Amino acid sequence: MRYSEELIEEVRERNDIVDVISGYVSLKKKGTSYFGLCPFHNEKSPSFSVSREKQMYYCFGCGQGGDVFGFLMEYNRLSFLEALQDLAGRAGIELPEQDQTPQEKQEADARLVLKEMNKAAAVYYHWNLLHSKRGEKARAYLENRGISLEMIKHFGLGYADLYRDGLYQYLRGKGYTDLQLKDSSLVTIDTIKGSYDRFFNRVMFPIMDVNQRVVGFGGRVMGDGEPKYLNSRETILFDKGRNLYGLNYARRSREKSIILCEGYMDVISLHQAGFTNAVAPLGTAFTTGQAMLLKRYVQEVVLAFDSDGAGIKAALRALPILREAGLRGKVLSLKPYKDPDEMIKAEGKEAFQKSLDHAQAGRMFELDVLHDQYNQNDPDSRTEFVREMAKKLAEIEEEVERTAYVSAAANHFMVKEKDLQNLVNRYGLGYQFEKANQRYKREPETAERTEARKTEQQSQPPRLLLTWLIEHPEIYPVIRKTIQPDDFLQPLHHSVALMMFDQLDRGEPIFPAGILVKFTDAEEKKEVAALFSTRLKYEPDPEQNDKALSDIVRKVKLASIEDEMTHTNDITRWQELIAQKNKIQRLDLHIYNK
Ligand SMILES: [Zn+2]
Repeated sequence: MRYSEELIEEVRERNDIVDVISGYVSLKKKGTSYFGLCPFHNEKSPSFSVSREKQMYYCFGCGQGGDVFGFLMEYNRLSFLEALQDLAGRAGIELPEQDQTPQEKQEADARLVLKEMNKAAAVYYHWNLLHSKRGEKARAYLENRGISLEMIKHFGLGYADLYRDGLYQYLRGKGYTDLQLKDSSLVTIDTIKGSYDRFFNRVMFPIMDVNQRVVGFGGRVMGDGEPKYLNSRETILFDKGRNLYGLNYARRSREKSIILCEGYMDVISLHQAGFTNAVAPLGTAFTTGQAMLLKRYVQEVVLAFDSDGAGIKAALRALPILREAGLRGKVLSLKPYKDPDEMIKAEGKEAFQKSLDHAQAGRMFELDVLHDQYNQNDPDSRTEFVREMAKKLAEIEEEVERTAYVSAAANHFMVKEKDLQNLVNRYGLGYQFEKANQRYKREPETAERTEARKTEQQSQPPRLLLTWLIEHPEIYPVIRKTIQPDDFLQPLHHSVALMMFDQLDRGEPIFPAGILVKFTDAEEKKEVAALFSTRLKYEPDPEQNDKALSDIVRKVKLASIEDEMTHTNDITRWQELIAQKNKIQRLDLHIYNK
């Protein structure tokens, strides 16, 4: 850690964790803590807690936890240094210039260079589109598609020329070296064939991250070349599964839902028509990472995919992903038009808005698709359809939701509600049974698993002892006679114990955030936060408490003694340890039951 501990502590103190997290998660006060829906896993009732007193957060559902730095690191995928800079900025604290390790410096430099290079490329393409002679046909193409100059500028559209190395020469002229260009995914460096641009003769769509930085490009070929759309490869800046085209604008639209469409052109024409909440995946299928990204901004996603077979397939794939992420998925009907653009051109934005208002619930859409696969005039086929529908409905876990869908489906497909409900109940039983079976199915035993369980068991007592000390520091004077920080063998526990024992020795209360701040690794923060958040099963019976605590102390001390015995060559020390071991085995604490 290269910034002083005092400075880091100051940054933490000046950023109240409840205030910071409130900016990302809606929190409600409950007792001494604040609760909200966890942003790190999908849940329906809040188990994500933030404590102003402890200045830490912890999720009782998935175990994510940490201090204010850890939250920003997890949520925004930042390094510790970046989180520190962000929080210092919020609090108006100026950070002194820093020496980085050579590796950190190299990485930071590479990212910076790539950011600037992408920006330069975007400017180059944009200029080509607007001002170059050859850019004319790209301008004509966009004009033909009805894209206004305002939108061209808003999205920074561009044109990659016919020259095979126009951009390469431009970037070299700006002083970038082949070594820097090599990892940009903008050009291909080839010592034999010569270096050439990745994109040529294409309309260019700069892809921006939520912070408006160009991280990659999509390019549509002019004419009939293949592939029709080409995207940047992934780079240190560009992760296709965690970005969406247009999200940099859509996230600020303040609409209650996001419109997910197929491609760049759909997004642009929707934004042009005033639907500034439209986004699209980046040339690949919709991913879980993208769903989680959307969940930060909305609860509902409306799919506006093409009305052809491929669009229906894409919707059927996206809906379960949305559900998994805890988002409500709806499907917009574009029929008889092919895509959003065609519909708006033919009937105006009011018609599109109307379609949007009447978007179908995802599950009903799935049932409609199922319906069309069966011949409804044939009794056997019709029966088969009703069975398949009941199976699908039986998968809905929440009863209220399931009943609502059974009723809606019965109505929509003209089946007797009672019959459908009976069928759903029948399949439901089997389904729940199967799920329970999966849950309890034991996985085969392997050496690795045995080892993992052993480590887990060994780390249990030290962890419990630390948690106990945090929750009930009054036991410290007695514990201190037997246990020293060095008895905590695991490095993380050892560090926490050192700090805690030091605070307790000085008669200070234990302040979780003050200890958490010393750990800069997100994984470590999470583990320490778990220590501070575990609730002990506190027995009302003092005798039971003494027994449990003695047992824990004994296990921790014995493990520590045995560890030393395997490492010492000193015979006198060995004998001392044997004597200690005998004594510890008889240890019987009387704290609660005096
Ligand atoms: Zn969680």
